[in-house]
Amino acid sequence: MLQKGVYPLYPTPGETMQQKRKVFSRIADFCAELRPIEDLCYIEHTYNDQLIPLAKRHKLLGMPVHKQYGGLGLNNREYANALALIAREGAGIRTFFSGHTSLGQKTIQEFGSKALKEKYLRPSTNGGKLFAFALTEPEAGSNPLALETTYKEKGNTYILNGVKYLISNSGIAHAIIVFARGPNKKISAFVVDADSDGIAREDLAAKMGMPTTNTGMFELCNVVVPKQNLIGKKDDGWNIAKHSLMNGRLSVAAGCIGVIQDCLQESAQFAKERFQHGKVIARHQLVQEHLSSIKIHLESTKLMVEKAASFKDQYEAKPSKELLHATDTAITEAKLFASNAAWDAADRAVQVFGGRGWSFLYRPGRHLVDTRVCRIYEGTDEILKLKIAASLLGEEYSAYS
Ligand SMILES: Cc1cc2nc3c(=O)[nH]c(=O)nc-3n(C[C@H](O)[C@H](O)[C@H](O)COP(=O)(O)OP(=O)(O)OC[C@H]3O[C@@H](n4cnc5c(N)ncnc54)[C@H](O)[C@@H]3O)c2cc1C
Repeated sequence: MLQKGVYPLYPTPGETMQQKRKVFSRIADFCAELRPIEDLCYIEHTYNDQLIPLAKRHKLLGMPVHKQYGGLGLNNREYANALALIAREGAGIRTFFSGHTSLGQKTIQEFGSKALKEKYLRPSTNGGKLFAFALTEPEAGSNPLALETTYKEKGNTYILNGVKYLISNSGIAHAIIVFARGPNKKISAFVVDADSDGIAREDLAAKMGMPTTNTGMFELCNVVVPKQNLIGKKDDGWNIAKHSLMNGRLSVAAGCIGVIQDCLQESAQFAKERFQHGKVIARHQLVQEHLSSIKIHLESTKLMVEKAASFKDQYEAKPSKELLHATDTAITEAKLFASNAAWDAADRAVQVFGGRGWSFLYRPGRHLVDTRVCRIYEGTDEILKLKIAASLLGEEYSAYS
């Protein structure tokens, strides 16, 4: 279980973490209360309906939202730390926060009008509004630019039509950030009230992992959206999506730290207790190799997330084209590395647990299936590798347009 006052990332000069001690202490309390409920829900493969009430009670529903809108005002480093702590409870729990906060709240915070911030961002910090972020469609996954959802203008409104697929939180969200293509073929972003007429939602039932949190799809059939619900400028949707994906990828990478830490802690403890061949298995050198490998992955992931989050903080403080490129690349590299490191850590932890590792009664097996999606969503391994190569070689070498 989480020790209070222990932060996953390293201290910064001026030690801002200490100033946020209360927040991190609340996160530890949140995790301690959540864990037994999550354990039960996971084993029964049921949605954890206590996650949001608990997050609300511990005031964790708007961690990086500016204080003027009711949030905690965490910067990217601090928020990455928070997600790393929370993700020990599972990638599914962290995915809820990624959908609501990293992709939802941060998109409104960075691009929304003052009116949108008042209407959606402020209530979202106490759970009055929960967010989902809907870019992916059945025929537009790795290539979101192929999206087919459309909008057209009608008086003071936009009319949206289309299908959004594999969307985290879509079944529980009050407001969904939807990307749609206009008559001029350019993409724009909108906040859509999830209870609008013409929206049909369906949960994804047969999932490989993350059974305690929500993933789903929805269809928009002539959904009327007020003009004020346009996010940012018309036709700027792709630019907005790219910025949102940076926040989403950083949240995945940060969460992977927590997964790796939990795998390490669980497997080290188990190895000291399990007795085979006349000694505890922690004394077998091949078991030690698994533990040292997880530890190296943990330290490497922390450094990469540290760098990416610090770049993002610098970019937000003083945006420039150069810093944006450096930040985007650092986040992409961190997400790719962290997802694979977490997958490897979970696999090794399962191995250390032996047959028990194969059961969801133990945490490593849950991490293994939950964390697999980190290599798929917010940019698959393949797409991120191509993106890293293009940033190295120059955009003219981009393997996809
Ligand atoms: C649990 C879960 C939650 C999700 N949450 C959200 C969410 O909240 N919001 C949202 O918008 N989306 C979400 N997604 C969707 C996710 O982002 C997509 O699944 C992902 O982008 C991949 O798209 P796809 O599934 O259509 O795969 P495809 O695009 O069909 O790709 C299939 C395979 O082909 C490879 N491939 C494709 N193009 C290339 C290429 N040019 N070069 C090399 N290889 C290539 C891919 O890497 C992959 O291995 C979620 C997905 C899951 C599983």
